[in-house]
Amino acid sequence: MAIRTLETLGDLAGRTVLIRCDFNVPLEDGRITDEGRIVASLPTLRALLEQGAKVVAMSHLGRPKGAPEERYSLAPVAARLGELLGQEVAFATDTVGEDAQRVRIALQDGQLALLENLRFDPRETSKDAGERAELAAELAAGADVFVSDGFGVVHREQASVFEVAQALPSAAGLLVAKELEVLSRLTESPERPYAVVLGGSKVSDKLGVIEHLLPRVDRLVIGGGMLFTFLKALGHDVASSLLEEDQVERVLGYMKQAEELGVQLLLPTDVVVAESFSADAAHETVAADAIGGSRFGAKGIGLDIGPDSAAAFAEAIRTSRTVFWNGPMGVFEMPAFAHGTKAVAQALTEVDGLAVVGGGDSAAAVRGLGFDDAAFGHISTGGGASLEFLEGARLPGLEVLGW
Ligand code: AMP
Repeated sequence: MAIRTLETLGDLAGRTVLIRCDFNVPLEDGRITDEGRIVASLPTLRALLEQGAKVVAMSHLGRPKGAPEERYSLAPVAARLGELLGQEVAFATDTVGEDAQRVRIALQDGQLALLENLRFDPRETSKDAGERAELAAELAAGADVFVSDGFGVVHREQASVFEVAQALPSAAGLLVAKELEVLSRLTESPERPYAVVLGGSKVSDKLGVIEHLLPRVDRLVIGGGMLFTFLKALGHDVASSLLEEDQVERVLGYMKQAEELGVQLLLPTDVVVAESFSADAAHETVAADAIGGSRFGAKGIGLDIGPDSAAAFAEAIRTSRTVFWNGPMGVFEMPAFAHGTKAVAQALTEVDGLAVVGGGDSAAAVRGLGFDDAAFGHISTGGGASLEFLEGARLPGLEVLGW
């Protein structure tokens, strides 16, 4: 079924619209280091404000433990949002308390308010559906409709995503609709060759997606911390590199399956091995089957793919017509180990077809490395959500909108 879009909510002039955004941006000392998610929310907010709606926005930030914590306050987001929209954003210092009431009541047509971090209330992420419904009812009180535009959280059964969509007439915002449109192109008849590039730290996070995608892709490219579990499965010594020993058997199974299906599985042939996990650590490039033989011996940690691998990966990406990439190739936060990630990002910008950067760290990595958003076909705002979508998993926050 098609998802309910904004138009299904009718004329919103003078009405109070509660909107779930994903303003979960990285902060350093109260400074926003990547505002991609805020920028991505602007089209829907603008569309609602231009219609003359009273807009109450809500979001989570980080992982507070169900109580207020200054460092997770959304106040810096309210300030930046106001600058980007060119209008004041009223900020409520609580989520459903007295200040939220005050701010809501004062809202005029075409004005926007932001509530404090949803996760300061333990009911937001409670396992108890009754508790979540109670918070959802408090959030919905006084609102006429609900718009779901936080793509990064649609895979979560949480009060502000799932229950609130049942408490009010609800629809997807423009961002969620756009994310779905692009990701659906990856799942329904992608142009071939279709390559999926996976990196990041944990294999166990990505196994579901590997399993689901293997029969669907032409090329599967593996980098990041997870590559060592693959190398181990091939019988190589990975010294002190990140390894998920308990996943070796499963990974071996995928390697066999890839061969049977004729899927090209690209693993690194060389690796940058460091003496320790630090930005200025001594390091050298060795063959992928000789990590244990580096000059650092058993202490050696693989922190990036090597230049030969980066070139091979880039070639496989560039010559594909559809590419989805999630997870950095190495510890890109440290310049010495960012080359592989940079090469992959560069190759994605050169794809003659659809190149999608799948959220979270990969999105932050491409911006941090100096790439322009416009160079990619699409940068998803949801890492986990986009992976789960590609896995074919049930996404409660979409189902509740009629998807
Ligand atoms: P994820 O959240 O699973 O996408 O993982 C992202 C993180 O993986 C980044 O912070 C990277 O620094 C980290 N990462 C990438 N490659 C490696 C590696 N070889 N060893 C340890 N961490 C890595």
